[in-house]
Amino acid sequence: MGAEIDYEGFIKELDIRLKGYFESFGDNIKCKRGCSDCCERGDYPLSDVELAYLMQGFTELDIHRKAEVKENIKNMVKGGVCPFLINKECSVYSYRPIICRVHGLAYFYKDKKVKIPYCVNNGKNFSDVCEGEIYTVQPINLNLDTYHILEGFYSEIKNMYDWFHTDNDTNSVV
Ligand code: SF4
Repeated sequence: MGAEIDYEGFIKELDIRLKGYFESFGDNIKCKRGCSDCCERGDYPLSDVELAYLMQGFTELDIHRKAEVKENIKNMVKGGVCPFLINKECSVYSYRPIICRVHGLAYFYKDKKVKIPYCVNNGKNFSDVCEGEIYTVQPINLNLDTYHILEGFYSEIKNMYDWFHTDNDTNSVV
């Protein structure tokens, strides 16, 4: 890790900003408690800073949940269900990575590509304003607001599977 960073302070401010973004999309957002479409398939890319914070959440779980997450991590497949998802809810919600916090929004990311959440295909977010590749919604410029701000502090961003299955130090954490 590079310079020290007040990651928790950053996350608090980010959450306030994201709340505003979610509200600005109004009825296009169908997110609600118990919906876990975003956590059931994906790569969940995250940095070392985010991983350390996520594992802080893990250490606060009770013994049963810890065991369940450990088992999930062992059985995790690339692109599949997130191991922290238990009974369709995030077991480490306050500690979840940035990618999870922005899930559900329509935004520009690298190379000016537009990210529309996968759940559009399930009749959820932005399904009212998307027809195949065509959409009538103004995506927000999230890339600048999140990853770029932290870029200087990142050593590396890897998919969650790779952190747990190819990095021995991280493996020993769980
Ligand atoms: S960390 Fe939590 S919010 Fe993020 S994908 Fe996993 S279960 Fe979902």
